Amino acid sequence: MRSRLEHERDRLHAQLREFQAAEGTFDGGFADSSQVTAERGEIEALAGSLSESLRDVEDAVAKVDAGTYGTCETCGGAIGEARLEAMPSARKCITCASTRR
Ligand SMILES: [Zn+2]
Repeated sequence: MRSRLEHERDRLHAQLREFQAAEGTFDGGFADSSQVTAERGEIEALAGSLSESLRDVEDAVAKVDAGTYGTCETCGGAIGEARLEAMPSARKCITCASTRR
């Protein structure tokens, strides 16, 4: 499971770097084009959700090290193998995740 998470982490890192590189290309000269502004906003939104996923995966790797991986952050119960299979960086069990508070 750890190697799967590390693989996922590397993938997200690489994607995020690509987005940051793309963002950088907008910095020169085209600042007043509304088309560029719209594209840039889209890239920033994507980069934002990517870095969020990356944080989740990094936390999951840390939890593997700490021996708490697969434990719900809210109720402390087991997250369940099927859920972890579908979403390796899940922080909560299906019960807590579907309960909005
Ligand atoms: Zn829970």
